[in-house]
Amino acid sequence: MRAPLIAGNWKMNGSKRDARALLGGVAAGAASLQGAEVAVCPPFPYLALGEAELADSVVCLGAQDVSTESAGAYTGEVAAAMLAEFGCRYVICGHSERRDYHAESDTLIARKLQAVIANGMRPILCVGETLEQRERGETEAVIGAQLDGVLGVVGIETFADLELAYEPVWAIGTGKTATPAQAQQVHAFVRAKLGVSDRRIAQGVRILYGGSMKPGNAAELLAQPDIDGGLIGGASLDVDDFLAICRAA
Ligand code: PGA
Repeated sequence: MRAPLIAGNWKMNGSKRDARALLGGVAAGAASLQGAEVAVCPPFPYLALGEAELADSVVCLGAQDVSTESAGAYTGEVAAAMLAEFGCRYVICGHSERRDYHAESDTLIARKLQAVIANGMRPILCVGETLEQRERGETEAVIGAQLDGVLGVVGIETFADLELAYEPVWAIGTGKTATPAQAQQVHAFVRAKLGVSDRRIAQGVRILYGGSMKPGNAAELLAQPDIDGGLIGGASLDVDDFLAICRAA
């Protein structure tokens, strides 16, 4: 009932030439894929290229961030309406790198979700704990608080219009992956927590896993009952690796 989504988060990598090659390769390879929905989230300057290269493909375009504001004197910001104009379907919100390096709060992230949804796109809302938090046994408390911080602003109904991504910070770009059991435990916790507010929405929401997902570990992670796809960083920069993960879904 929840079709898997594999989304590539390119982060701040590559050149225009790399972007064109990667977009073309993913578009060509995804044509023969069955089952998984595929998306790529290039850096802002390459979104126009993405719109053009993916025009006739099944691959969706996404962005990595968005402004809370709709227009005006916000130097360096990009409005949700602009992303929609370039054909974006998804927008990553609240990635741990944004929370950490740009001090994004749950309230700010909630406003980004609203901006994205108001412009007809779907946010991919990221949550996750640090290694210290996990070691202190605070994983569920931290993720619960991240969800509550957003829920308090937007309400449970909004979770019908977004995807979630569980990304343990200690697994991002480190080569350390959560074991399928560790990931499943958190995904199940997230679904159960949302289910307290609305069972139907909790059952329908897709929860992606992110953090060093690779061709070698994707199938086992994606086989878990509450893992509905992947948010792929490093491995999304390689056409063959990314497509192999898509095939595993
Ligand atoms: P990674 O990144 O796959 O390189 O660990 C995932 C992410 O940060 O979205």
